[in-house]
Amino acid sequence: MAGTTLDESTIPVIRGRFEGELLEPGDGGYDEARTVFNAMIDRRPRLIVRCSGAADVVAGILLARETSLPLAVKGGGHGVNGHAVCDDGIMLDLSPLKRIDVDPEARIARAQAGVTWGEFDAATQAHGLATTGGRITTTGIAGLTLGAGSGWLERMYGYTSHNLVAAEMVTADGQLVRASEDENADLFWGLRGGGGNFGVVTHFEYRLHEVGPMVTGGMILWPLEQAGEVLRFYRDWIEAAPDEISGGAAVVTAPPEGSVPTELQGKPVFAVIPISFGDPELLRPIREYGTPFADLTGPMPYVEVQKLMDAGSPWGFRNYWKAEAVQEFSDELVDLVLEHGKGVGSPFDACFFQPLGGALDRIPAAATAINPSAGKWFLHVFGIWETEEEAESEMAWVRRWGELMEPYARAGVPLTFSADTGDERVRATFGDEKYARLVALKDKYDPENLFRLNQNIKPS
Ligand SMILES: Cc1cc2nc3c(=O)[nH]c(=O)nc-3n(C[C@H](O)[C@H](O)[C@H](O)COP(=O)(O)OP(=O)(O)OC[C@H]3O[C@@H](n4cnc5c(N)ncnc54)[C@H](O)[C@@H]3O)c2cc1C
Repeated sequence: MAGTTLDESTIPVIRGRFEGELLEPGDGGYDEARTVFNAMIDRRPRLIVRCSGAADVVAGILLARETSLPLAVKGGGHGVNGHAVCDDGIMLDLSPLKRIDVDPEARIARAQAGVTWGEFDAATQAHGLATTGGRITTTGIAGLTLGAGSGWLERMYGYTSHNLVAAEMVTADGQLVRASEDENADLFWGLRGGGGNFGVVTHFEYRLHEVGPMVTGGMILWPLEQAGEVLRFYRDWIEAAPDEISGGAAVVTAPPEGSVPTELQGKPVFAVIPISFGDPELLRPIREYGTPFADLTGPMPYVEVQKLMDAGSPWGFRNYWKAEAVQEFSDELVDLVLEHGKGVGSPFDACFFQPLGGALDRIPAAATAINPSAGKWFLHVFGIWETEEEAESEMAWVRRWGELMEPYARAGVPLTFSADTGDERVRATFGDEKYARLVALKDKYDPENLFRLNQNIKPS
């Protein structure tokens, strides 16, 4: 069927090749399946394959080749750049693939590609185990793992990719392959940080660690006037803190809640999310610093810590983000990002400051495609708003942040945080040496660039 076109005569035949549902425009469930996290993305695939297993992934890849239609791959649909969905092409929707098997003895979890972090954490925490996972429960394990994967446990156990022990992937020519340290080791190296460039991953296997189930976490809030002083203290404290201390800091809008004084509600405030995976007393220095107007920290289950940022990142809003790595979070930079933070517009906008360090400094750089030299902090700006009318001012605010950061930024923010997708940005994510190795891998596994709707590594 080379040169196949999708029309009324071919679709009924093609349906027989798939176990899962096929959705066309107008079908029930079509709009739900094509909807992704970022409401700025409104694309209409010609066909959506609701995959029921690896066989559907194989059939979908072969169909894309036959029809020469673009192929998009959706895990959890959280990619802010919206690559998971395409216009007029074929979309492989992996979200029905929800199986998770936990082996508590071996401390391994095997999960299918449609699982989200909320689902993964629930399954592993039933055994008191976890691995580094995304900070929002609705994020997919698939895109996050392939793009490095940053989470609250990273200062103890590294990024999510560092905890990947194997993956099963369908290649551009429809072969199901396994990648681990012992099988297709070159592919395994590239899957850990190189994104969805080499094929469609159907299963991920992760190393698990004893975590919780109770840990200490929450949020502390200070008026913005104290932010400069508190952020400097926080920076110095966390840079010297043991690996069990994690979290981040942010300028956010204070919610209209009882714990927030009326005069601060709806205003930008300074927040620290401190987390201790060890002794709760380790959080005392930051809890006692300055005069916060709310200290909402305490013992809580790890699965609740994983939900701390959910309310600030709801589905169905428009998103425009940037992130940069810096080696030194200098006083000058602290002042700059806080001044910019005062300009938050929508109640969901935020400037987020993420300390790295701990295990991330010790994991051998050569083990994965991830750029090890990105820096000591990731600084983020999140524009998240509701209506089309706000788009111009929100995007200008985020772009301005990008300009301000230019003199300080170092290349190497992992793909998961890099919403920009230009070729130079992708190359800089890895550095020249690792990029060249990734291009060689692309030449081997996808020389025709079938998997190009992503932060693309182009074959030579
Ligand atoms: C609210 C929010 C919070 C976030 N928090 C974090 C965080 O804490 N840490 C972090 O590291 N990142 C975070 N991210 C970024 C997130 O990890 C990336 O956007 C990631 O790509 C999301 O994965 P997904 O499967 O949900 O996305 P999707 O949009 O479904 O996929 C993104 C891309 O990944 C590729 N892909 C997806 N599944 C597969 C597969 N099975 N095989 C091959 N390629 C595939 C495709 O190229 C696809 O276009 C966050 C994003 C959002 C919107």
